[in-house]
Amino acid sequence: MIRQPFQLTIGSRLIQQLISLLLLFAISLTLTGATRKPDIVRVPIFGFHDVIDLKDSHEIPPQRPQFDSDYTKQNLYPFLNYLVDHNYWFLSTQDLYTYFIQKSEPIPEKYWNRKPVMITFDDGYYSAYKNVLPILKDLERNYGEIAKVVLFVNSKYMGAKMVGYLPHMSCEELREGYNWGFYDIQSHGHAHQKLTRLKFKALQEDLSLAKTSLRTCLDDLDTRGWTAAHFAYPFGEVSRRVEKAMPQYYLTGYLYDDVISRPTKLRDPYRISRIRANLSTSPGQLIKLAEQATLIHSKLDLK
Ligand SMILES: [Zn+2]
Repeated sequence: MIRQPFQLTIGSRLIQQLISLLLLFAISLTLTGATRKPDIVRVPIFGFHDVIDLKDSHEIPPQRPQFDSDYTKQNLYPFLNYLVDHNYWFLSTQDLYTYFIQKSEPIPEKYWNRKPVMITFDDGYYSAYKNVLPILKDLERNYGEIAKVVLFVNSKYMGAKMVGYLPHMSCEELREGYNWGFYDIQSHGHAHQKLTRLKFKALQEDLSLAKTSLRTCLDDLDTRGWTAAHFAYPFGEVSRRVEKAMPQYYLTGYLYDDVISRPTKLRDPYRISRIRANLSTSPGQLIKLAEQATLIHSKLDLK
């Protein structure tokens, strides 16, 4: 009779401990399941300008001065070759928008177990036709893969081959690369102006003209309206005012900040990060950055 309360206390303590253990177990299960952190996806987006062929005397000093923003065909080849050889997914601007920013469609199975990258060229230089296209065709021959690249083109200078200036691609040349499936043609403004310094009306005119000119060029080929739907800021310059004018014409905006893009966590689709590649960047350095891309897999949580 005297020992009974004591036994009861021990019994109820054991039960209490068991219950709290079970509760802890249940809570930890809920935490790991329902509130698992969504995956942060890293997509390295590289920005090139003019691509020079060191074997062409017209493209090296003294015939043509070198610019820091140049990249050589001889270095571009091994970089792109590495990406295709390692089964990288060459994103178009619309891919980035649909699968990672809007997340409006699930990532198709053919892209699973691949790392996403985006290769872009600014200004619409003729070299994207003369020096880049042959690399892409070569890689297609060797690997049976089409590596798509993004061209951010200034519509005003399409076909401009002025003395003393770098030559630009014509509408016909753009169409040819587009037809082969190698070019994603997007806007870099009409006249490569510093948009942050334009009055609002002039700003709207530049954005609008850039879009309509490129779409007119690709009109019969682009049935989905994905040409000139995305924009790269000339000189990488953007302001709140420029951003305000953007949504009427474009879905996204690309700048330069030398940071690997995290499109699923993007606060602002008009400030997409890009990494600048220039004369002093080796293919090895570019490959190291590309390797930091997230491997896409079926269980990726993009919320
Ligand atoms: Zn530019």
